[in-house]
Amino acid sequence: MIRIPCPFCGTRDHSEFTYGGDASITYPALDAPKEEWHDAVFLRDNICGPQLETWHHVHGCRMWLVIERDTMTHEIMSVRPANPKLSALFEDNSEADQ
Ligand SMILES: [Zn+2]
Repeated sequence: MIRIPCPFCGTRDHSEFTYGGDASITYPALDAPKEEWHDAVFLRDNICGPQLETWHHVHGCRMWLVIERDTMTHEIMSVRPANPKLSALFEDNSEADQ
């Protein structure tokens, strides 16, 4: 079982979330050749260790999150909102707490 510390709702069971995919993908421009789009959409590394993932808190705050999770141990190293503006707010607050 994976327990995910949602920054808005607190720690919740992963069954409240939907996996969104690899968060490290950089998608090509809309007018890029179809081969680039094919590679971005269908070719994935099968990472054994820490990777960035997107998760949707469907049965909670409904926010998209970026989670750094170890695929071997399921340890979660970091969680932040996927929205860059919200993520920046959380970073500002965490710096103020220190
Ligand atoms: Zn939440």
